[in-house]
Amino acid sequence: MPTFVDPSKCDGCKGGEKTACMYICPNDLMILDPAEMKAYNQEPEACWECYSCVKICPQGAIEARPYADFAPMGGTSIPMRSADSIMWTVKFRNGNVKRFKFPIRTTPEGSIKPFDGKPEPGSLEDELLFTETGTLMVPQATSMKKSEVSDGDTVQCWLDGFCK
Ligand code: SF4
Ligand code: SF4
Repeated sequence: MPTFVDPSKCDGCKGGEKTACMYICPNDLMILDPAEMKAYNQEPEACWECYSCVKICPQGAIEARPYADFAPMGGTSIPMRSADSIMWTVKFRNGNVKRFKFPIRTTPEGSIKPFDGKPEPGSLEDELLFTETGTLMVPQATSMKKSEVSDGDTVQCWLDGFCK
């Protein structure tokens, strides 16, 4: 079942230019109603229930009913993400609740500098590839002479009759 936003919990990401759910949805389905400052799934039938928006929502305002094969009717499986871990609260049909917490990263959030050490951009006119250095190998000039095979040359035939 596609995601749905609980309007009583959604705060529109406090009026940010792009809400967290809009930023993360790979299908661009989440949209903000600026009058109400509440987000909603604008095309529920296109939602593939990837849970990305559910995990990123800082208010825990988005819900998705999990697939029936791992959460039969009546069960729920709700993720809550922090900076370094994610906790799944699984509610079984008989009312039992279990929580599972997993680490999601090995470095502090925000510590990765993705463009550190990136080489300066090269010239688009250069024949060298971005990772190549030095000078380009120039093919040697060919003799343009046809090779002759003399009678004395031996040729090994692998198939009977091939050299007849
Ligand atoms: S990420 Fe959550 S709080 Fe932010 S706009 Fe979307 S539903 Fe609302
Ligand atoms: S579950 Fe995935 S596809 Fe569906 S609205 Fe959320 S982010 Fe988009």
